[in-house]
Amino acid sequence: MQKTMLAVMKEKAQAGVTLKQIPIPTPINDEILVKVLYASICGTDIGIYNWTPWAAGHIKPPIVIGHEVVGEVVELGEEMRRGLGDGGSGRGRSGEGGIGGMKIGDIVSSETHIYCGNCYQCRIGNLHVCENMELFGIGRNGGFAEYTTIPIRTTWKNNLSIPLEAMSVAEPLGNAVHVITKANVAGKKVLVVGLGPTGLCAGMVAKAYGAREVVGLNRSEYRRKLGKKVGLDRVIEKLSEREYNLFDVVVEMSGSQAGIQIAFDAVRIAGKVIAFGIPKSEITLNWGKYLINKELSIDSVFGRRIWETWYQTSDLLTSGKIDLTKIITHRFKLDQFEEAMKVMMSGECGKVLLEVA
Ligand SMILES: [Zn+2]
Ligand SMILES: [Zn+2]
Repeated sequence: MQKTMLAVMKEKAQAGVTLKQIPIPTPINDEILVKVLYASICGTDIGIYNWTPWAAGHIKPPIVIGHEVVGEVVELGEEMRRGLGDGGSGRGRSGEGGIGGMKIGDIVSSETHIYCGNCYQCRIGNLHVCENMELFGIGRNGGFAEYTTIPIRTTWKNNLSIPLEAMSVAEPLGNAVHVITKANVAGKKVLVVGLGPTGLCAGMVAKAYGAREVVGLNRSEYRRKLGKKVGLDRVIEKLSEREYNLFDVVVEMSGSQAGIQIAFDAVRIAGKVIAFGIPKSEITLNWGKYLINKELSIDSVFGRRIWETWYQTSDLLTSGKIDLTKIITHRFKLDQFEEAMKVMMSGECGKVLLEVA
């Protein structure tokens, strides 16, 4: 077997990445070694590439970056080989699910939020907001490489009826599922502010879950066209005042000051706003005008529920209600990472896929 692999590394605490050959990792304890087949680039990876203050606060170089991957299990860590793995089982549907019964040759993805299992949030079932969370491809080596190691407790065994490419871009869909399930959208008028990949997915999920009308808002014509392509009822460049106070549910996916302002103008009295996009700096909001006078409900989402959201996501994909390949707009080989990142930064893209194997 080969001993080294190509990896995209953040080697120094500065902008940019290095592509280099490094030793293939060995899975220890409860880890598995995965041969990466496809990976996709996330908005978070742009911040890591550019070395934003957030990235500087979360990453200690050198580290292999990348967290959205699908791959094949090629080796099990010692605890797994001795049968001491975490146990548990999925729902037994088509062999998909989290932990338990993992074997060589299985096609798996990694949850990005690697939980500890011991803190208060983990103990009450909120694994995705673990107090000691380690982030895959951010706080530990990730998946923009030919091989990666994942702890078995955060490994998801994929349903093989889903296209491999779709599995690798399932994170934005999962996040969107968590966002939309917080709002109970059936029969409702929904506005999606920001049509990046997760916003596009939120629009698709809202449609799949029976929203009466789904409107997508984005300044970029390219992204609005994608919104049309994935089946949103209407896409708009900005919100006219005639549409203020009309939406039952607004999902804020942009994280921009302007987007957040629009979300609160658009939502109806006693409507619901779900916050997902993360602002780069502090934002301001007229607390009295919106929160008090409109008597709004506000909720927020940070990642996927483990594994509840994953099952819901899998259901949407296996039933054919959502075709994730529609949001994949570009494909590159791993050694073309710099080119792929340029496309990401241009904003003229949906999901950018890396064909690794
Ligand atoms: Zn991501
Ligand atoms: Zn924890």
